[in-house]
Amino acid sequence: MQIPFNRPCFTGNELKYIAEAVERGHISGDGYFSKKCHAFLEEAVGVPKALLTTSCTHALEMSALLLDIQPGDEVICPDFTFVSTINAFVLRGARPVFVDIRPDTLNLDEKQLEAAITPRTKAILVVHYGGIGCEMDTIMDIASRHAIPVVEDNAHGLFANYKGRNLGTFGVMATQSFHETKNFQCGEGGALLVNDPQYIERAEIIREKGTNRSRFFRGQVDKYTWVDVGSSYLPSDVLAAFLYAQLEARDEIQTKRRHIWNRYNTDLRAWADAHDVCLPTVPPEVEQAYHVFYILMPSLASRQALIAHLKAQGILSVFHYLPLHLSDMGQKFGGRAGDYPVTERVSDTLLRLPLYNDLSEADQSQVIEAIHAFENWR
Ligand SMILES: *Cc1c(COP(=O)(O)O)cnc(C)c1O
Repeated sequence: MQIPFNRPCFTGNELKYIAEAVERGHISGDGYFSKKCHAFLEEAVGVPKALLTTSCTHALEMSALLLDIQPGDEVICPDFTFVSTINAFVLRGARPVFVDIRPDTLNLDEKQLEAAITPRTKAILVVHYGGIGCEMDTIMDIASRHAIPVVEDNAHGLFANYKGRNLGTFGVMATQSFHETKNFQCGEGGALLVNDPQYIERAEIIREKGTNRSRFFRGQVDKYTWVDVGSSYLPSDVLAAFLYAQLEARDEIQTKRRHIWNRYNTDLRAWADAHDVCLPTVPPEVEQAYHVFYILMPSLASRQALIAHLKAQGILSVFHYLPLHLSDMGQKFGGRAGDYPVTERVSDTLLRLPLYNDLSEADQSQVIEAIHAFENWR
């Protein structure tokens, strides 16, 4: 039997809510279930405005439009993240400025942030890797001293917090992903969380093809017209219905993931210590989201050997991001080998283990036993 790396999970009400959305006769954007998702996210995360989007990538594109990113502007982001974090800004002509990550949390290294700021810096993007919060006090202090807006790519960190404050509430805005691979999902989907109220009205306009349709439907203007740039970033209410079933099961889903994560962390500890393998670091001031369980192997060769060893037993484990500065695009912006050594090493040695909401105890035991039996250290 195969143990996949990820499996999209269902909580029970997805199909029921989809049928209800269809019966309600409004399956375009901002219908009944979209509004329920917005209210849920606003309440649960504690943000003034949540807007569902077609993806986290699109929420990031909206951020770049809202911050008026222009050709030649510089945008700072960690070198170790998904392409979309920065691509959404490069699409507007921005020049990426990468910062290396911390070797413990794998988040943007706040000690290297200030040196990356120039008079052209227009935004700082942070990613809470694995749903473990960045060192936000330091980052927000630097950003506010330079008056640079922070955007949180919180694709991994929904419902996690730093010093008791929810991730997604620090930046002027934050983005969520509901892609099939995330803790809460609807296949493809996302959200923009807006914290700074000055961006709310324009966010609604940009999301609605540059029109004031939202204000029109609230009766605040008497005609609905083209007022700004924008695009079509609303998901169908059918997807929102699916997502709402997942959000409603928040506690159940997070409890299962926490249980699985903690078991890996406990059961692999002695093995890791004996073989110079690192397990994740969760700083005490952080409550994490249990999005990823990773191990850092001693070398690229041993990481590749462990992937092969697990695969031979039907267990799929995967590496993660390649350093952005070494990608084809990153090299066009001047990236060279050796620029960001921590990202380069982590990218070579990190391995993610199967973690999904309904991974069974027996399957997880099989993964742990297979790891203990690994002998091909090189
Ligand atoms: C998954 C992910 C995205 C992209 O999410 P989509 O919803 O697929 O667009 C962006 N950033 C990070 C950090 C992610 O993990």
